[in-house]
Amino acid sequence: MSRRDFLFDAGMQTFFQSLSDIERYLEPCHRYYSLTCQHCGLGGHLISHGFIYKQLSMHERKTMGKRVVCSNRFGHSGCGRTTQLVLAECLPNRQYSAWQLSVFIVLLLANVAVVKAYQLATEQVSTRQAWRWVAALKRNIMQYRLRLKSPVSVTSSWRCTHPVFATLCALVNGLTAPVCLAFQLSAQTAFI
Ligand SMILES: [Zn+2]
Repeated sequence: MSRRDFLFDAGMQTFFQSLSDIERYLEPCHRYYSLTCQHCGLGGHLISHGFIYKQLSMHERKTMGKRVVCSNRFGHSGCGRTTQLVLAECLPNRQYSAWQLSVFIVLLLANVAVVKAYQLATEQVSTRQAWRWVAALKRNIMQYRLRLKSPVSVTSSWRCTHPVFATLCALVNGLTAPVCLAFQLSAQTAFI
């Protein structure tokens, strides 16, 4: 391993427990000497690039994370691309939070109907997204299975005999925190 590899081998974490964890992670000593851009792999060019907010209402917004840019200006020779570092409760590019999706999954596993589970989790009357969530969960099933420590076993619940539900059930049982948050923190990849 070269000295350069030794200095820049940390990659980039994208999901965090708290905002202060993000702040600590982006301290100058880490940005300059250990973190590498997840797009181009270069180290030493990451610059803080502002907060990420979620608009809660007309007058209220919540800080969900921070952006860093791999700078190609002012003497830097990075790729110019941006990375978002967000709280684990944030589902990237989705309207609802990882808390709400976690509730939806737990309700499905408790044999609540898909549409009802969606309404309870999101407090929405419209259910257009309910089946999209189910489709997204099905698409990601291999990703969930990769994270399971033991093979999926079929339980007595009729619903858990379905491969997707059985996998989600094993995932929920294997984690101590809400499933989507815990998954995003440990796998460092979006749940859906
Ligand atoms: Zn880069």
